Amino acid sequence: MTNPMTLAEIAKNAYASAQTSGFYTGENPRDKVSVARHLAGLHAEVAEVFEDLRRPGPVLNRVFFDGDKPIGFLAELADVVIYAATIAEHVGGDIQAAVQAKMTYNATRGVRTDKETLS
Ligand SMILES: [Mg+2]
Repeated sequence: MTNPMTLAEIAKNAYASAQTSGFYTGENPRDKVSVARHLAGLHAEVAEVFEDLRRPGPVLNRVFFDGDKPIGFLAELADVVIYAATIAEHVGGDIQAAVQAKMTYNATRGVRTDKETLS
C-alpha cells in the first residue's frame, strides 16, 4: 500500500490537475476578483454536500461509486477539501501549514458556551 498523500501534496496535485483541465491558467493569483470566483465555486461544492445530505439514506461515512465515479456525501465533502486546497495552492499558500496553525490555535480556545445548533 502506498503512503497517503499529505495535504500539501494533495494541494499541489489538485492544482496541477485543475491546470491540466484548463482552470487557473493565465490567472493572476493576486487578482482578488478571480480568487472570489473560485470561492464561489467552493461554495457551490459546499452546496453539493448539503444536497447530498438531503437525499434519503443514512450512510454518510463512506464513498459510493456510480461506475468509477465516487459519489455520496463523503465524496462531495472531499470535493470541498480538494477545492479549498487548490485555491490555496493557486495563491501560493501552504494549506497544510495553515491548517496546522489553525488547529493549534483552536486547541487553545477552550469550551465554547455560545455554540449554534441546527435543532
Ligand atoms: Mg462536488
